Amino acid sequence: MAELVILGSSGWMPQDGMQTTSLALRTGDDLVLFDLGSGVARLRREPLRSLLPADDREIHVFLSHLHFDHLIGLTFISGLWQNPTVVHVPPAVGEVSGPEVLDALFGGPFYSHPFSELVPAISRVPVGPGEWPAGRVTVKAWGQDHPGGSLAYRVGDWFAFMTDTRDKPDAAEFARGVQVLVHEAWSYDEDAPRPLARRRAATVPPPRWRGWPSRQAPASCCSATSRRTARTITSGC
Ligand SMILES: [Zn+2]
Repeated sequence: MAELVILGSSGWMPQDGMQTTSLALRTGDDLVLFDLGSGVARLRREPLRSLLPADDREIHVFLSHLHFDHLIGLTFISGLWQNPTVVHVPPAVGEVSGPEVLDALFGGPFYSHPFSELVPAISRVPVGPGEWPAGRVTVKAWGQDHPGGSLAYRVGDWFAFMTDTRDKPDAAEFARGVQVLVHEAWSYDEDAPRPLARRRAATVPPPRWRGWPSRQAPASCCSATSRRTARTITSGC
C-alpha cells in the first residue's frame, strides 16, 4: 500500500489557506518527501503526523530545485521530526553545487543553526537525472525547463511529480503510464517571460500547451495544483 499526501501545492507563496509545495509518499516503513515548501508544517499535527515513520527510520527528501518556496520547510524540520534524514539536492546554478548552497543558507546570518545540526543525523547528497535509491523506493529524476533548472521525479508507475516547469517536448514521455501525475505549471500567454505579478499558477493547462504531460500522458489521476487542504491519494501498489 502506498499513500501520497499533497501537503502543499501553491507556487511562490502561501495564499488563501494554501501552502507551498510539499508531497509525502509513505510506502510501508518508508517516508519520502518531495520538496519542503511550507506545506510540510502540516506534519506537525494529526492525522498527518502519523505519516512519520518510527524514530529510527530514515526520511528521504528530494528537492526539485532551490527556490525558496520549495525549501523553506527545511527550517521547520527540527520541530517536526528527529529521524535520520537524507536531503537529495539538485545542482545549483553556475559553479556552486546544490549542497554548498544549503550550507550557505544555514547558520548565520540566515538561520541560527548550521545544516548539519537541523536534526541529529542529517546529510545532503547531490541528485540529478537518473535513478536514486531511497529506502526500499527507487526515485527516477529528470531535468525540466525552469530558470536555474528543476527536476521532475517519478516512483515506478505509481506517481510522477512535475513542478515549476514550462513546456518541454519530451515531458509527457517522462510521466507516461503513471497512476498519479502531480503537475504544477506556470502559465504564460506567450513565450517571453512576464513580470511575476502577471504570472498565475495553472490548475488546468490550457489547450494551447500541447506538450504538457497532463494532456499527453495518460494517468488515471491527474492532480492539478492549488489545493486548499492536504489531499491524500492511496494506491494498492
Ligand atoms: Zn521555482
